[in-house]
Amino acid sequence: MNGAEEPGEAPPDGGAPLLEVHDLVVHHGQLRALDAISLRVFPGEVYAIIGANGAGKSTLLRTIAGLHRPTTGSVLFDGTDVTGLRPERRVTRGIVMVPEGRRLFESLSVEENLKVGAAYARQGPWTIERVYEMFGWMRERRNQPTAQLSGGEQQTVAIGRALVANPRMLLLDELSLGLAPVVVQRIYGMLPQILSTGLTVLLVEQDVSQALRVASHIHCLLEGRTTLVGRPTGINADQVEAAYFGLAGAAAPGPVPEEGEA
Ligand code: ATP
Repeated sequence: MNGAEEPGEAPPDGGAPLLEVHDLVVHHGQLRALDAISLRVFPGEVYAIIGANGAGKSTLLRTIAGLHRPTTGSVLFDGTDVTGLRPERRVTRGIVMVPEGRRLFESLSVEENLKVGAAYARQGPWTIERVYEMFGWMRERRNQPTAQLSGGEQQTVAIGRALVANPRMLLLDELSLGLAPVVVQRIYGMLPQILSTGLTVLLVEQDVSQALRVASHIHCLLEGRTTLVGRPTGINADQVEAAYFGLAGAAAPGPVPEEGEA
């Protein structure tokens, strides 16, 4: 199928998925924002959701985090159905989101924002001290209100705030939004270090080339539907473009098989 594949192909070692989304349907009022979305994310992966404005990317991430209630479908984390759990209960299980637009408490200091992130923290390697070890400048500016930081610095604090909760799965919503390309590169450059602590990442990104650079899997949405799933190495630019913009004709990826279908 031209490199496209079943949503969340099993890894070679045959391990169990950390996150499973089954046939998720989500409405905003009358609008069907997500239509039968399924995916599986395996431990250690960087799984990227791509798509144009309004494709449903944030709705998907927010539903996984517990901020939207699906009409039908389910979310399983580490084999347990978490569909009915409140967001903070998902955080204590290890699902932690860095929201679009960062959503820091801007009048609070860097350290106070990090303490907010630790409120529902699991036991684990990440502490505020560890975040300071990773980002030295943050320690120096820990008493400064985050409103005084640059966009890239604020994004880094938002990531630090998520890390101190000791996530097993980090949900990253549009890290690159409003940031200069060089800053985006720097922020994505932190991913390997973060992943080396055993984390799994599900991210939303409008910048397709950025997503292709960092992801082990790409999942494209268009108007709430899956149009392409595959490894960046197995899909070409034409397929991505067709899936992203819904272009009929050449290089269209074709339907993604249902789960369980070979
Ligand atoms: P963007 O990159 O612009 O954030 P997206 O792919 O993340 O786009 P969503 O934000 O998930 O898309 O939005 C999907 C659809 O749902 C859009 O048509 C949007 O207008 C609508 N929508 C999102 N949130 C709400 C809401 N709270 N109430 C009503 N409609 C909403």
